[in-house]
Amino acid sequence: MTKKTRNDVWTLAEQYGGALKAVSYEILGRGRSLADKLGGKLTSVLIGDGVSESGLESLIARGADAVYAVQSPELKYFVCETYSRILEKLIREHEPAVFLAAATSTGRTLMPYTAVKIRTGLTADCTELDIEEGTGYLLQTRPAIGGNIMATIKTPCHRPQMATVRPKSSRPLPADDSRGGEILRIPLDRALIDGRTQVRGCRREEADTLGLDEADIVVAGGRGLKKGENFHLIRSLARQLGGAVGASRDAVDRGWISYPHQVGLSGKTVSPKIYIGIGISGAIQHLAGIKTSEIIVSINSDPDATLHRIADLAIVGDAFQIIPEIQKRLDEKRR
Ligand SMILES: Cc1cc2nc3c(=O)[nH]c(=O)nc-3n(C[C@H](O)[C@H](O)[C@H](O)COP(=O)(O)OP(=O)(O)OC[C@H]3O[C@@H](n4cnc5c(N)ncnc54)[C@H](O)[C@@H]3O)c2cc1C
Repeated sequence: MTKKTRNDVWTLAEQYGGALKAVSYEILGRGRSLADKLGGKLTSVLIGDGVSESGLESLIARGADAVYAVQSPELKYFVCETYSRILEKLIREHEPAVFLAAATSTGRTLMPYTAVKIRTGLTADCTELDIEEGTGYLLQTRPAIGGNIMATIKTPCHRPQMATVRPKSSRPLPADDSRGGEILRIPLDRALIDGRTQVRGCRREEADTLGLDEADIVVAGGRGLKKGENFHLIRSLARQLGGAVGASRDAVDRGWISYPHQVGLSGKTVSPKIYIGIGISGAIQHLAGIKTSEIIVSINSDPDATLHRIADLAIVGDAFQIIPEIQKRLDEKRR
């Protein structure tokens, strides 16, 4: 059994259908630098079912010193109450200093639920994390007041210091298969299963939001599209490029497209190789969701649009002329 120290950092690993989600590695990257600064150990905690030995080892390769894996068919699907009881028991036994999770729907549900049980603080949706020199406190930085200021929050009196971090806001460490670490398989204590909640079935998100936060290409539309029906242009271009469909909040608020497509501060963070924003002005809250994109393309009739200013490629013009032109050229190239 691993010796407990008060400097240990934990991160939550997530799985679906026995496959680890990419956020499990991203959050390890965040945890690694904090554990190094604290002189503590980094542990990845996995609750689920069916993650293979090589899957668990991949968490070590991506930065963990230890993996605590609680796996059982009863844990195949995320049930907040049961997962939280398991976490609560582990936290009370091992007393980590810091516990991080990605701000996915699992992380956003499980972490605050658990923080209340443990009676500690939690900062949601952090963009930066650091360790304060001298005190060793976790510095939890996140946008506040509509993204106009960055607030740094500390949890001096309670442990663990808990935070969620936006998915895609950092890149995972490269895999290093020479790293060594301990994998601890912890049997499920059936007394922790909360029988009040049962999963009756699972339904995937709409096909074209699938993978929005993992897509290599995102084509997003905004108010410049004028009406909901015109979103077929965005969908069609995304399909042609093999990408996912995104939207500004304005487009979502107008009911032109559903919320799972929203990109930005109060929507999803995307980090594609190419992000194409069409008829989107580039408000600070939208930019918060696209800033780690590798190449940003802006299509906007206003030459002074903010998105143009930060874009790698700015196309000034009418979206209703430019989208068909791009599609025509893509078709010609394919022939
Ligand atoms: C707390 C808070 C959270 C928020 N969260 C988010 C968020 O998560 N995501 C988000 O997107 N916003 C968010 N917002 C809203 C944000 O401030 C903006 O209001 C929103 O992003 C604007 O959307 P838009 O760019 O589609 O619309 P607009 O700002 O109205 O821009 C439309 C653009 O379309 C261009 N255009 C018009 N016609 C054409 C044409 N024919 N061809 C090409 N271009 C054309 C215009 O020049 C203009 O630049 C948030 C706001 C707050 C206060």
